[in-house]
Amino acid sequence: MDQQIKTHDCCAISEESPDVFDLAVIGAGSAGFSASITAAEAGKRVALIGHGLIGGACVNVGCVPSKTMIRAAEAIHGAHAARRFPGLSGSAQVDDWAALMAGKEALVTGLRQKKYADLLPGYEEITYIDEGAAALIEGGVKLGARVIRAPKIIIATGGRPDLPLIPGIQDVPTLNSTLLLALDTLPESLVFLGGGYIGAELAQMMARMGVKVTVVCRSRLLPQVEPEVSEALTQVFRNEGITMHCGVIYDACRRDGSGAVLCIEEDGEKLELRCDHLVVTAGRSPNTEGLGLAEMGIKTDKRGAIIVGDDMATTHPGVFAAGDVTNRDQFVYMAAYGAKLAARNAVLDGAERYDNAAMPWVVFTDPQVAGVGLTEAQAIAAGHEVKTSILGLENVPRALAARDTRGVIKLVADAKTDLLLGGVIAAPEGSDSIQTLVLALKFGMTTKALGETIFPYLTTVEGLKMAAQTFDRDVAKLSCCAG
Ligand SMILES: Cc1cc2nc3c(=O)[nH]c(=O)nc-3n(C[C@H](O)[C@H](O)[C@H](O)COP(=O)(O)OP(=O)(O)OC[C@H]3O[C@@H](n4cnc5c(N)ncnc54)[C@H](O)[C@@H]3O)c2cc1C
Repeated sequence: MDQQIKTHDCCAISEESPDVFDLAVIGAGSAGFSASITAAEAGKRVALIGHGLIGGACVNVGCVPSKTMIRAAEAIHGAHAARRFPGLSGSAQVDDWAALMAGKEALVTGLRQKKYADLLPGYEEITYIDEGAAALIEGGVKLGARVIRAPKIIIATGGRPDLPLIPGIQDVPTLNSTLLLALDTLPESLVFLGGGYIGAELAQMMARMGVKVTVVCRSRLLPQVEPEVSEALTQVFRNEGITMHCGVIYDACRRDGSGAVLCIEEDGEKLELRCDHLVVTAGRSPNTEGLGLAEMGIKTDKRGAIIVGDDMATTHPGVFAAGDVTNRDQFVYMAAYGAKLAARNAVLDGAERYDNAAMPWVVFTDPQVAGVGLTEAQAIAAGHEVKTSILGLENVPRALAARDTRGVIKLVADAKTDLLLGGVIAAPEGSDSIQTLVLALKFGMTTKALGETIFPYLTTVEGLKMAAQTFDRDVAKLSCCAG
């Protein structure tokens, strides 16, 4: 057998060379680690090619830093919320922003070390390589002058924040989620551009930290979720003192001293919003530049995301992709799940298919918003004859006892079969309650069966039982325990 493999730039490496692997994974974030560990556990030799901070977005600039800061903001708000109870006065504020940020950084550094860097020595099949941005070549990956040979490749290069094309935006002080989570002083005022899940979470967090916050959205807050939930959350934001402008047109930006002015049009009226910084949370772009996708015939969608089939394969044989760089779900657990499938299908003769039919998603606002399955509009578009049930949290005993009835539950079902199709819950700790609905969908429950299931009293999740009962009866007429 010929031991020499010809490379693109005329260098040659033997098959026993340390630069020949079963699998090359580009990107050492959540998807890259998941793919590499899956293949390594099956004895495959993996080149994990990282660039920048190991661990990627989730641990460094995404889930971990945002969720610890959101919890800190909730602690401040929780102290204020104590006032809802007779006899409690409650007060709290940010005493030392620098200390708060240092605590966040320590958490990030610790988790990056423990959950990423420290794992590598335990997998001798994985070789971690960080020598700059990688690009694809036929049969391998190129890193400057170095060529890594692998018959199978998984692209897991993630994404980064977008900057929308608004005239003048380059000249004004802007932040994105990464920069916001690294601010060394607390600003006085912020305008958030975009009300998707990252914008919603961070806007409420900063408002609770004591910043004057305005949210501006082209459509509405959380445009992907049911309108009733979006409306309820908008009202919560307004009640907390956040200024909301929805359904606006962005006209232009201009600098104003050290701050920024955003010019918008709302209901035909021109408005100018002044702030210390514009926070751009209007979407994320996949990291595909310089990978050589076009040269390899790998197709992307209009956002630039790599198009993958449900087997996670790209349009080039032997090349797979997973995580935020693809046209699939942009959540860390879905990045890890998709990457595991990609690795099994790439190097373990797998024939596994990506299935997100019962995928839960969560927005870490307060109340949290969590959902699974189809919205009413999606169910109608899919051809179902649809019935829905909507239950305000003022009907849920747990919410009454907690003196916090902010929120709503909406369930969607097929009118003919009574099968549950989807649902969303806006409630404190709704992220935990949603998993009950995930199981109900996954195992094909009807609304009747959910309404007859025993739930503990007084819990938030009991609201799901009550919402299921609301399809057929007025729960206001029921006694305690929805009986
Ligand atoms: C503020 C914020 C909050 C979030 N909160 C949540 C949450 O609560 N829950 C949740 O599920 N998800 C959350 N997410 C989303 C989550 O972080 C992402 O879905 C997840 O990190 C995607 O993982 P990934 O491996 O695809 O990409 P990444 O984690 O971005 O990893 C990609 C890696 O590839 C590297 N890379 C890029 N180009 C190259 C190249 N050419 N060569 C080599 N390496 C390269 C990058 O530097 C990076 O290290 C949040 C995101 C943000 C921004």
